[in-house]
Amino acid sequence: MDLRTVMMLLAVGSFLFGLFLLVLKFNVNHPQEVPFWIMAKFSQAVGYFLLYLRVNGYDALSVLANITLILGCAYEAWAVRILTGAEVKRRLHLPVAAGIAAAILAALPLGSPYRGGVVFLLQSVFYLLPGAFLLHGPSGRSLLQRILGFCYLAASGVFLGASLICLAFPSFAVSAAGRPVFAVVPLASFSIFLIGGFILLTLAKERSDRIVAEMRKSLRQSQTRFQRVVETATEGILMFDEDFRITFANEKMASVLGYAIGEMVGRPYESLIPESHIQLVRYQEMQRRLGNDSIYECPLVGKDGKERWFIISATAIVGDSGLFEGSFAMLSDITERREMELALAESNRRLTEMSHTDSLTGIANRRLFDRVLEREYARLLRTKSQLSVILLDLDHFKDYNDEYGHVMGDACLRQIGAVLAECVGRSLDLAARYGGEEFACILPDTGLQASVEMAEKIRRRIAGLNIEHSKSPVAPYVTASFGVITVHHSPNLSPADIVNLADRMLYRAKAAGRNCIESAEWQEEGQAIS
Ligand code: GH3
Ligand code: MG
Ligand code: MG
Repeated sequence: MDLRTVMMLLAVGSFLFGLFLLVLKFNVNHPQEVPFWIMAKFSQAVGYFLLYLRVNGYDALSVLANITLILGCAYEAWAVRILTGAEVKRRLHLPVAAGIAAAILAALPLGSPYRGGVVFLLQSVFYLLPGAFLLHGPSGRSLLQRILGFCYLAASGVFLGASLICLAFPSFAVSAAGRPVFAVVPLASFSIFLIGGFILLTLAKERSDRIVAEMRKSLRQSQTRFQRVVETATEGILMFDEDFRITFANEKMASVLGYAIGEMVGRPYESLIPESHIQLVRYQEMQRRLGNDSIYECPLVGKDGKERWFIISATAIVGDSGLFEGSFAMLSDITERREMELALAESNRRLTEMSHTDSLTGIANRRLFDRVLEREYARLLRTKSQLSVILLDLDHFKDYNDEYGHVMGDACLRQIGAVLAECVGRSLDLAARYGGEEFACILPDTGLQASVEMAEKIRRRIAGLNIEHSKSPVAPYVTASFGVITVHHSPNLSPADIVNLADRMLYRAKAAGRNCIESAEWQEEGQAIS
């Protein structure tokens, strides 16, 4: 076989080998990829092919052929090193490539056969390296590794010999060119290609099996770790399939709801949700289907039928194909916090109520009266409607106290409060104790006539209580005098002005002999009409 045929065979062989490795690389089920190996094979294929083209004579093509071929050998050395389980610094390959190119270019001016000597020397070095990697190191190297190591050493020896002949005995080398003595060089390349290729593939398979076994082991370990974390988590954990059926519940989740884990698995999520929150949960399920995560608060019904509140952090599980496959939720029990919040809200509500209630009569106090008047006045300005205020004051109440004592006086005030609460029943109306023995009513959207009728009703009901008041010059029972004012949309008035106007009417009623009603209507023009 002549030299060109050998080169062609090596080029085609290396190319096919590279192609084969490339197919393996993209086969996801067989992670047998060895870094640098594909590069090595393609680089060698190019090198051998260029040598095939220019096997006689020495020109730029030969320089390129030698650089790519030796670079391919260097890559193969790294691939072998990786196959022995060692690490390789990736950034090394650039300076090495530059070094190879520089050495070959530097040898150019030396002329034949020194150039060839340098190329053989370099190749000898890059066959020596994988040999050393395979033979040196832990004593547990496999037989195959050792065989391959010796093959590389042998090839390295052949190239070293050829290099020494070229460098030390140039005239012999020139005369021997093309003779069988040099035919050993391509023979060595061919042998190492065949033996190396076969053994390296076997080693790569062993390596990938080892990697897969390690991956399986670490997967098992992380599964066990994950399972332990999930099972001992202080948070509840639930997993759902695409129809929101529970596929997993941890111990904590089941125990909080009073179920056994087995009772929870297979159950639809909605079966744990109270009717009041079904809509919320359906909305959340829709979000999961869209691939959105969210955090929400929701009660879940336990086995005992009692609701417990949870803050739920839910995550969609989306498969490799982008389809919704289910969801995952972490649930923190916030029942106690929620009960505390509710208790706090209730106590706040009661505090507010207390701060708005008159402790003696139980009806609204002055503070609430002022607030409501302020609010209704603002509304009056907006709606351009009308607003009435009734102010009433018990007649000769000082004398009542003097005669019957303060305790009886307080009891009397409580009865008056009850009358007001009964008479002023509309939701927007308000009856309040204004202070001492004075009471006040706010009647929004109420005209003068209706307000006077209301005052009359209260007056009669107070008289109807028939609380004895022997010292009253007005009647033998407790009576009250009333001032009623109705205002229309009047930007010039303030809420205090409205009370003053009612007070003025009350003063008039007192002056008119008490136990009666005085009223007025405040018009836009600023005229109070009796
Ligand atoms: P008039 O008909 O002019 O209103 O006479 P009056 O005696 O009611 O008016 P005055 O303002 O002189 O007296 C109000 C009395 O109301 C004085 C006080 O003894 C009594 N009073 C005020 N607040 C309370 C209270 O909380 N309890 C009791 N028992 N009496 C009160
Ligand atoms: Mg008074
Ligand atoms: Mg009075």
